[in-house]
Amino acid sequence: MTVEVQVDRLTAYIDATRHVYESKLKELVDVPSVSMDPAHKPDIQKTADLAHDLLKSLGATAEIVKTKGNPVVIGEFHSDKSHPTVVVYNHLDVQPADPSEWKSHPFIMKIDGEKYLGRGTTDDKGPTLAVLYAAKYAFENKFPINIKFCWELEEEIGSPSFLEFLKNNKDKLATKSVVISDTIWVSKDKPAIPYGLRGLQAFLVKLKTGAKDVHSGETGGLARNPITELAALIAECIDAKTGEVKIPGFYDDVRKTDEAELEGFVKSGFDLEHFRTAHELHSLRTKDTKDGASRVWTRPTFEVHGITGGYAGPGVKTIVPHQAEAKISTRLVPDQDPHKIIELFKKFVKEKCPDAVVEVEGTLKPYIGEREGVFPNAAKQAVKLAFDKEAAFIREGGSIGAVVSMKEILSVPIVFLGLSLPEHGYHAINENFDWGQASGGMKLFVHYFKLLSEIR
Ligand SMILES: [Zn+2]
Repeated sequence: MTVEVQVDRLTAYIDATRHVYESKLKELVDVPSVSMDPAHKPDIQKTADLAHDLLKSLGATAEIVKTKGNPVVIGEFHSDKSHPTVVVYNHLDVQPADPSEWKSHPFIMKIDGEKYLGRGTTDDKGPTLAVLYAAKYAFENKFPINIKFCWELEEEIGSPSFLEFLKNNKDKLATKSVVISDTIWVSKDKPAIPYGLRGLQAFLVKLKTGAKDVHSGETGGLARNPITELAALIAECIDAKTGEVKIPGFYDDVRKTDEAELEGFVKSGFDLEHFRTAHELHSLRTKDTKDGASRVWTRPTFEVHGITGGYAGPGVKTIVPHQAEAKISTRLVPDQDPHKIIELFKKFVKEKCPDAVVEVEGTLKPYIGEREGVFPNAAKQAVKLAFDKEAAFIREGGSIGAVVSMKEILSVPIVFLGLSLPEHGYHAINENFDWGQASGGMKLFVHYFKLLSEIR
């Protein structure tokens, strides 16, 4: 049994859905489901309830599954057990946002013509609802496919409970493939289907050299300065100009990229100047496109996110601080193993600054999937049908911890079909989404579900 996508009918459905899409998106964005901040626990629960009720109201099954951390909302548009099944993954938790920095309030969604402003509009509440309303269309028009939903509420903190959730609910999520809508296009004209993600290993490095801050006139020159020592340690870890990591063994397991893959990145339309302006950066570490793309997609990093300690108020207070802390993380690529990186880093710190203490924070493994095969091909075709654009197969610089867990537990192909654009401002102030990407996304997923229904 196959179905045809009737373009007029689909267009009329999408137009008719706009109002409800916008009001449901506003309902979700207006709840600050910030997973990083324990004070927002009630908002996490409220979001799970809203998501559950929304699935029910559309005729899907729905369940809020408790975990040790935040719950996961699952549900299904079930057609028949003889039909193929797909699991759609999205997340409904968001990054924090400081209202004083935003043009409009991050947790009161503002509709400005075609634009939706607010925290979570593009990451990932807007895409979640675009896929949902596409799935509703497929269900109502009797596409021979079962569409399962898996909406996480801990993605922004590295999915600490997700692996265990998958192990306990493997049967409920039995599927032929997974599709994830939580990634960013190369540009508005270049849709992207990523097949690789970087991993992450975070650290805190703490150094204490005394019991209290002391006077730099009385003690300076003799007292050790923990901020200076951490700065020196960092300078031994990385070349600040080139970004090259100097910890011995760090690059040993980095998978070589072949020339064809690098050429593909250039053809994808990855453009340094566009990248620079989209991220509001003053300058970049390279002027070479191929080098630029591989710096964010195929090579590991070492970043210092902050150094704390000493005096940070206005003016200069002449103290020698007694403690300092560096917040560090490294993005990892296939086939680097986070545990090996932890050992290398600890050993290096011990050698260079023996009384510094390394605390290991979040870990995410890197991921690489297929660029070819029936599922990537269906994705490419669906993008073409919906947006009349050729999708580029690229890698992503970011990390989605849930992906590695899904690959390990569900053992099926995983496809990334994101709807966000670089200018939407993932994790940034004034995050936004737009009706063009939402409506195009509904079309895209209707075609994708149709194509999946034919893969037996
Ligand atoms: Zn996201």
